[in-house]
Amino acid sequence: MTQNVIQIIKLLLVDDDFGDRKLTQHILSRQGQNITFNVETAETLEQTKKAIAATDYDIVLLDLGLPDGNGLDSVVEIVSLAGSAAVLVLTGLDDDEVGVKVIRSGAQDYLVKGTALEYTLVRTIKYAIERKRSAESLFKAQKDLEQMNAQLLQASESANKLAEQAKQASETKSQFLANMSHEIRTPMNAIIGFGQILAEENLNSHQREYVDLIIESSKHLLDIVNDILDFSKIEAGRLKVEQIDCSLRQLVHTVKSLVQSVAEEKHLQFEVIISDNLPDAVQIDPFRLKQCLLNLLTNAIKFTETGSVKLNVCLIDNGSPQLKFDVIDTGVGIPPDKQEKIFDAFTQADQSTSRKYGGTGLGLAICKNLAHLMGGTITLQSCPGKGSTFSLYVPIQKTTGQTRFVPKHPQQQEADPIPLQKTLSGCVLIAEDSKPNQTLIRILLEKMGLQTVIVEDGKQAVEMACSRHFDLILMDIQMPVMNGYEATAEIKRRGISTPVIATTANVMEDDNIKCLQAGCDSYISKPIDRTKLQNMISEYLLLQPAGK
Ligand code: ADP
Repeated sequence: MTQNVIQIIKLLLVDDDFGDRKLTQHILSRQGQNITFNVETAETLEQTKKAIAATDYDIVLLDLGLPDGNGLDSVVEIVSLAGSAAVLVLTGLDDDEVGVKVIRSGAQDYLVKGTALEYTLVRTIKYAIERKRSAESLFKAQKDLEQMNAQLLQASESANKLAEQAKQASETKSQFLANMSHEIRTPMNAIIGFGQILAEENLNSHQREYVDLIIESSKHLLDIVNDILDFSKIEAGRLKVEQIDCSLRQLVHTVKSLVQSVAEEKHLQFEVIISDNLPDAVQIDPFRLKQCLLNLLTNAIKFTETGSVKLNVCLIDNGSPQLKFDVIDTGVGIPPDKQEKIFDAFTQADQSTSRKYGGTGLGLAICKNLAHLMGGTITLQSCPGKGSTFSLYVPIQKTTGQTRFVPKHPQQQEADPIPLQKTLSGCVLIAEDSKPNQTLIRILLEKMGLQTVIVEDGKQAVEMACSRHFDLILMDIQMPVMNGYEATAEIKRRGISTPVIATTANVMEDDNIKCLQAGCDSYISKPIDRTKLQNMISEYLLLQPAGK
């Protein structure tokens, strides 16, 4: 059953003519059951203004010809004061032109007095009220929309601000990690370097064992630092992969020679199978591919006590060729619920493995990210107690051109340093602030047959380089007073053409670019690979490199 709702309309009737007022009131009073008019009256413009200031009307029914009014001007004035009330104008003249002017003055509608009023009045009032309501809800909706837009804008501004803060925090973290690894690499340079020098002395068997352990542990520590550095570069989006023409077989051979002895020490069967369809000349990032394979193979050997470790390499060519490297072991395996998680940073399958085998839990996270950066992926199949197969897929472009040798990554150490020989001659300026590193570089250079002069900062380096002739300058980058970039730029600016090799513990890609931009002829990263250093120096001194 529907209930009748009575609509009460508050109406101000403005008319100076008594008869017209009575007639209008009469029409309004005769309306149906659903509508009741609550009518107040005014006879002048002044009274009207007072009334609408005091009461909220739904309708103002305004006669156009008030004694103190001015026709359309009065309409404009009342519309502006009427607030939410709809203003309807009553005229004595049925004139369309007047009607248009009335509407343009802001009134909702106009009505002509007379007999027709009886039929049109209430309907016009109802429509006016509806129009007014629609306009008001439209207005409210617009306001709500504006408010929502403002809130949205505010939310997006604070989201941007948070994103900016997060970016800054991540950059600060990456910078911190980069600084830390620089700080760690500087003493590591001395520890590894002096360990290698000591190993060349006449040592008894105990001493040799201890020195070997020092070198081995330092290299292990360096691997950890390099992993942290790589991971921070990946997180900061600063790790770039390259596309270099290289020999795939040579790369696989290098990887094999680096891990074979470790597998054999554990009495594991170690095998590398290369399928016949494997192209040799390919475009890939050899440093990063090698890094992934070494990581997977080192893990396979680490987590296998008996049985075998195998590397299968083949080409899958379904239109877009990709290399597939399967690293298969018969080791401890990984439980199904851990198989996804172990690819997350700092995650290990089992707490006891970290105690037994060591490790940071970064290797697989780096491998997975490197695989993605190379456009590929890594998958895993494993059965606890039986073993694991990690499959690395890397898309390739076959090349027809000449392949280069697989270059070593700047961070990678030589497996066995060649003993240094006095094959070079000349005088080298060493700019280096760390005392142990000054001594280390001096000894290395003297072992190569070179004379040395040491300065402690960039300013002294500039003064010394200008005061006498040197055949070569070894310039540390991070030094007090004046850094290596500034010192090199100043030396070159003063017209001194002595070759400058930057020695830097910074290993971010753009640090190397900065070295070259500052005018350095070459750079070598710390910890310094002594054979690489000797070969590099011999290039500039035009003499025989080590071992030749
Ligand atoms: P780390 O070896 O330094 O702990 P990784 O990210 O390389 O870090 O590996 C994460 C974890 O994945 C390891 O701690 C180990 O639990 C598991 N894992 C990786 N490779 C193997 C494997 N071949 N066999 C069994 N478990 C493995």
